Amino acid sequence: MKKKKISQKDLLIEFYMRNPNRDIPHFEIVPRVMREYKKKTGKVFADPDRGIRKLYQDGFLIQISKGVYHYDPNYIKNRNLEDFDEKTKKAIFERDKYRCIICERGPKEGMEIHADHVKPKDRGGKAILGNGQTLCSQHNFLKKNFGQTTLGKRYFIKLHKSAIKTQDKNLINFCKEVLDLFDKYGIDTNIVD
Ligand SMILES: [Zn+2]
Repeated sequence: MKKKKISQKDLLIEFYMRNPNRDIPHFEIVPRVMREYKKKTGKVFADPDRGIRKLYQDGFLIQISKGVYHYDPNYIKNRNLEDFDEKTKKAIFERDKYRCIICERGPKEGMEIHADHVKPKDRGGKAILGNGQTLCSQHNFLKKNFGQTTLGKRYFIKLHKSAIKTQDKNLINFCKEVLDLFDKYGIDTNIVD
């Protein structure tokens, strides 16, 4: 039988999967995985806290309070279903040329990029190429907090201002008409600047 290489991440995941639906504080899991890792590999588990935080960031764990995390198999199941798989993510990035569709910044400009759901997951948005868009961290954050139309309106306000600066009459008029459409349909009328 082939001996499987055990990673620190595997050990953490194994522990949580053996203890589902329970609030587990760091001080419970950390010494155990460190001991287990030492026993299995003879090496020192470098930074379990960081590994746990990473699992949380990846959506594998739910944070209950500071240093306390919870593994819920149902949460993972629902979540994974609507997440972009690696192949779709790559297709989204490639279609958008690895640049944020709003500011056109990407890794070349030192910006991290994200595959974002145009229609959010919690509103039934599917994990398909057509529902994906590339956003930089900054615009991904704005999108998560403001939603798609709001993001669009803010973008056109910004574009309008820069068109005024450069005296681009055509672009000024275009932006103005788009912004008028927001008003016409009563979308995001609370945003004025
Ligand atoms: Zn951006």
